[in-house]
Amino acid sequence: MKGPDDRGRFGPYGGAFVPEVLVPELRFLQEAFNSAWADEAFRARYHRILKDFVGRPTPLTFASRLTLALGGARIYLKREDLCHTGAHKVNNAVGQILLARRMGKARIIAETGAGQHGVATATVAARFGLECTVHMGVEDMRRQRLNVDRMRLLGAEVRPATSGTRTLKDATNEAIRDWVSHPRESYYLIGSVVGPHPYPVMVRTFHRIIGDEAKRQLIDAEGRNSPDMAIACVGGGSNAIGLFFPFLVDRSVRLVGVEAAGEGLDRRHAATLSCGTPGVLHGALSYLLQDSEGQVQPAHSISAGLDYPGVGPEHAFLKDLGRVEYVTATDREALDAVKLLSRTEGIIPALETAHAIAALMRMAPDMAVEQVIVLNCSGRGDKDMNIISKEDVAI
Ligand SMILES: *Cc1c(COP(=O)(O)O)cnc(C)c1O
Repeated sequence: MKGPDDRGRFGPYGGAFVPEVLVPELRFLQEAFNSAWADEAFRARYHRILKDFVGRPTPLTFASRLTLALGGARIYLKREDLCHTGAHKVNNAVGQILLARRMGKARIIAETGAGQHGVATATVAARFGLECTVHMGVEDMRRQRLNVDRMRLLGAEVRPATSGTRTLKDATNEAIRDWVSHPRESYYLIGSVVGPHPYPVMVRTFHRIIGDEAKRQLIDAEGRNSPDMAIACVGGGSNAIGLFFPFLVDRSVRLVGVEAAGEGLDRRHAATLSCGTPGVLHGALSYLLQDSEGQVQPAHSISAGLDYPGVGPEHAFLKDLGRVEYVTATDREALDAVKLLSRTEGIIPALETAHAIAALMRMAPDMAVEQVIVLNCSGRGDKDMNIISKEDVAI
């Protein structure tokens, strides 16, 4: 269950499908990560920065009015929206930048879609004084102007990707090309549990703090160390695996991942696990939105962070095992969920997070009042206010 094996396989998924020149680089990375994570001093530094810079531990908030409104299980929110920069992504960025420094790298490369991972990376690069290049599709740069300005203010270079649909998939191709051209001095900082081995296991390790904290906090709140259900949205799958990981071995915990159904599963969507088929994208074998010729299909979601045609290989394996249930929520349902959480709890969630809330709205009422749900509140919604007010739900 814990995986991966030493070739980076989660069952049949994962692995490392990369150009020859990157094979030794991935081996160095694997060795550096193993030695760092075994080193007490490295872990202490990582935890200290999470505390002093990120603001951890994040609270586990009992959502009393949401619980009342849905009339079923008791709902707790794991407040990753309160992390510095407004989402869980910074946990992983901190871990990987410490690793990059330990490896003696001078320069960070990242890709970004909506700009959230780019902002988290530019933030830690500034904090540790490393040079930073963020690849971003020109279409995304146009849609996410504010994040482009943020990254530049933080001292990062934002490099426009002009190929293909000019979005995340193309930015990722450019980032990989950049890494292939400068493997020695550069560190490629991947933003989710995707990419070639060892990235999925490394990013999971830097995010499991979410589930580890929730477990401890539940003891104080409810006198028990596991919920009946844990639920999170799934783009690449990092906030979900971060919450789920400590509960994977405990079969009594129902785990639910929520993908973006966009305009509906028969129209444009980003429901990779629900509707995709296995294939290789960005260095790993996993589920993928592709046509019958293996051409990657563009994904669509109202939330830019879920708008990716791939998904982490561990989720592919957990789906096949039946250990995690993967369900979907549409753009419309996500907008309704933003409104509900805002008005019942005084928390405006990110549109990504809202997909998990939408699924929760369907599931919680069928559960018993003494049951407990933990929902990963992966990010705050300020970044999405343009879209939310355009859709008129806030009024
Ligand atoms: C990026 C993002 C996600 C999706 O990424 P995962 O790797 O699936 O967690 C979810 N929520 C927020 C707030 C994000 O910024």
